Amino acid sequence: MKRSLRWFNGSGMLLILAGCQAGDPLPMETTPNPPPQPTYTVTRTEAEWRQQLTPEQYRVLRQAGTERPFGEVYEQFKQQGGGTYYCAGCGAELFSSQEKFDSHCGWPSFYDPSNARNVKTRDDFSLGQVRTEVLCAKCGGHLGHVFKGEGFDTPTDLRYCINGVALKFVPAKPSPARPASEP
Ligand SMILES: [Zn+2]
Repeated sequence: MKRSLRWFNGSGMLLILAGCQAGDPLPMETTPNPPPQPTYTVTRTEAEWRQQLTPEQYRVLRQAGTERPFGEVYEQFKQQGGGTYYCAGCGAELFSSQEKFDSHCGWPSFYDPSNARNVKTRDDFSLGQVRTEVLCAKCGGHLGHVFKGEGFDTPTDLRYCINGVALKFVPAKPSPARPASEP
């Protein structure tokens, strides 16, 4: 009995250690508290952006790059519960888990921004086709593209196809539980 208990504990510890091995920072920044909201347009020099952002964030946000589909950040996105998504460049609120849906496209998808004032679009003629680029209205960071009329069963039939590394996730705070000792 003692031995099996010890085995169980050891196994639990191994599981915890295995979980910690993923201790490399996850591709999508996650913080417990919402970032301060920028009240003005955020401008930084390229050198400042390079210093502030990870190389992958810089490539996506400042050079209109695209992250690898179905990658680690997509897995992370799918597993996230309720919460809010902010711009990884300037902290502006962009999307919420309430408008998140699974489009199976390999990138985080939303059917609407949570704060439309912070999201702007423009025509993108790269790749020999017209697409609609999605940018952060506060810092001009490239977020992804938006596609419409694809037939998704969402209120807008829009798919904001967003690079996860361009986002910062703040999980919703659980509503405080009533103390057990309360009469
Ligand atoms: Zn921004």
